[in-house]
Amino acid sequence: MKEQAKHQINLEESVIAITGLEKSFDELDVLKGVDFTLYRGENVAVLGKSGSGKSVLIKIMVGLLRPDAGQVWVLSKEVNELKRKELDALRLRVGFLFQSSALYDSMDVYQNLSFPLVMTKKQLTKKEVDQEVYEALDAVGLTEKVNEMPADLSGGQRKRIGIARTLILKPEIILYDEPTSGLDPITSGEINNLIREVQERYNTSSVIITHDLTCSKHTGDRIAMLLDGKFIKIGSFENVFASKDEAIKSFYNYNF
Ligand code: ADP
Ligand code: MG
Repeated sequence: MKEQAKHQINLEESVIAITGLEKSFDELDVLKGVDFTLYRGENVAVLGKSGSGKSVLIKIMVGLLRPDAGQVWVLSKEVNELKRKELDALRLRVGFLFQSSALYDSMDVYQNLSFPLVMTKKQLTKKEVDQEVYEALDAVGLTEKVNEMPADLSGGQRKRIGIARTLILKPEIILYDEPTSGLDPITSGEINNLIREVQERYNTSSVIITHDLTCSKHTGDRIAMLLDGKFIKIGSFENVFASKDEAIKSFYNYNF
């Protein structure tokens, strides 16, 4: 009873609430008891080395992978209890920026952005779709690229268009998977700034998966350190890296 009351309070304030999450692939135990809360309006950067289970974690959040144990509440719904249609409806409210940006290479920027909109809101007029496309492009500062093909964009521009395509559905939560990977430091800095601008302009709550300390510092209101299948420390950047934990110290040192 007490547990249940605690959980209800949690759900009201949080947009994501995870308890006791476990996930293995055959003999490989990836997540071994993850507890996590994302509060409304905040950005949490999840830091962890390559292969630590960061992508698995956010795939579980949108029901792309099923956990072996634990509960995953997203916007007050238990993801693993949802029927197909309910899961589809939830996914419209949760934007997912894949590591590769996953743009459709055969479509131009306009088509890449309008496609998810036209598929989900069939009643929109051409004028309304145009308006939404330009608003999303404006938010990422690339309105002039509307007729370009993805292959003609730089890495940073592709990331921006990926973010714009996420924004077009006005998500309440955005999950960013390695938003700065493969980008030079200056372009990375611009993407970090954009993630902050999006948080303010669209009132989103976000999880930013990264192994890049600078990215975590600039985009995260809190940092969650994933190590050996669990969050070993969650707090402000300063607080996390003031830790005496050897693994955290070595993670910091290897980045500089
Ligand atoms: P990262 O922290 O780099 O994002 P991942 O979450 O992608 O790491 O992967 C964590 C571990 O789980 C890796 O060892 C990876 O090989 C394994 N893994 C991820 N997805 C699958 C899958 N669908 N089947 C089997 N193993 C997987
Ligand atoms: Mg990954």
